[in-house]
Amino acid sequence: MKSTGFFGGFGGVYVPETLMPALEELEEAFLQAKEDSVFLAKYNDLLHNYAGRPTPLYRAANLSQRWGANIWLKREDLLHGGAHKTNNALGQALLARAMGKTRLIAETGAGQHGVAAAMSGALLGIKTEVYMGEVDMLRQQPNVLRMRLLGAEVHPVTTGGRTLKEAINEALRDWVSSVRTTHYMLGTAAGPHPFPAMVKFFQQIIGCEAREQFSQRCACLPDYVLACIGGGSNAVGIFSGFFNDPQVKLIGVEPAGKGLETEHHGAVLQKGSPGCLHGMKSLLLQDGDGQVLETYSIAAGLDYPSVGPEHAYLQSTGQASYVAATDSEAIGAYVELSRSEGIIPALESAHALAYAKRLSSCAGHGKHILINLSGRGDKDLQQVIDNVQPL
Ligand SMILES: *Cc1c(COP(=O)(O)O)cnc(C)c1O
Repeated sequence: MKSTGFFGGFGGVYVPETLMPALEELEEAFLQAKEDSVFLAKYNDLLHNYAGRPTPLYRAANLSQRWGANIWLKREDLLHGGAHKTNNALGQALLARAMGKTRLIAETGAGQHGVAAAMSGALLGIKTEVYMGEVDMLRQQPNVLRMRLLGAEVHPVTTGGRTLKEAINEALRDWVSSVRTTHYMLGTAAGPHPFPAMVKFFQQIIGCEAREQFSQRCACLPDYVLACIGGGSNAVGIFSGFFNDPQVKLIGVEPAGKGLETEHHGAVLQKGSPGCLHGMKSLLLQDGDGQVLETYSIAAGLDYPSVGPEHAYLQSTGQASYVAATDSEAIGAYVELSRSEGIIPALESAHALAYAKRLSSCAGHGKHILINLSGRGDKDLQQVIDNVQPL
């Protein structure tokens, strides 16, 4: 390995011996690709001409008036595929092709990464198979159908809680026996090195664009930058644009489920303790015996008992802070953004919006709050109507 992949005490490589050569090959290919002008030109061409970058920075005037802060939205919901996941999937699919891999596997929670993987596989002509928990397949059915339409095979995962954690386990198990032909396209900035560094590299375009767009429009920087936290890729993507601006407060918003006092939620950074899962050392929601807890969030894409190691590190150094929003706050924000701006956000992104609302009423009053609108929310509409809010 060229690097140990540690962010302070978090990160690293904790995998079976059989995966080490694949991770070394991947790191080698990634380090080459990120300095290779031909690779980067192809990647940027796809981002611009296929996926629709740059995405707009939108000042939500109606919400700003209602909430009392200046609310800015980085519109990753407008990226091709409907979420920021496309930035990473296109990058990794190009890398897989450069490594001569003929098969892509991926895990997915909300289905957004599965869709992004399936799109990239279709585009580059690489066979794609996606592991998805049965529970998630039910609550995110439109994305399952989309993946199949795009030519991907979707494997239901029926073990444990039947959500994202188990889907990652299955994908890793597949990879152990298929490393020669197969690239494992991990969907978030987590897992063993080099995944956290590589996914961040492919997502940093969000922060890079947002910082430039914001300074052009305002001749200043935002006071706060907010993003929801599942594994942490959209957050590290937007945060990375502001790492050299200590006056900008970076806040990650975790899923509190029905409340932090309940048994199941996903507030890993606030309630977790150090441990190893999915090839990395990070914070984990676990019981006294080190058993990983079942998480719960209405947003399938945030339903994960660990978090990318860089966020554990950013929290430990105080460079970023982490808070939580509940299901019902997220649903409130989902409806409020839809009705006040005509934009339907993903339930995941709605967690960040919900915290922005709380912030606007106290410390953030009159300030500039930039929120990463990580995805669009059509996929969640049926769930919101069925379970929660008769429209
Ligand atoms: C997957 C997903 C997330 C959570 O993943 P991160 O890696 O934490 O960004 C958030 N929002 C949307 C729309 C997603 O699809």
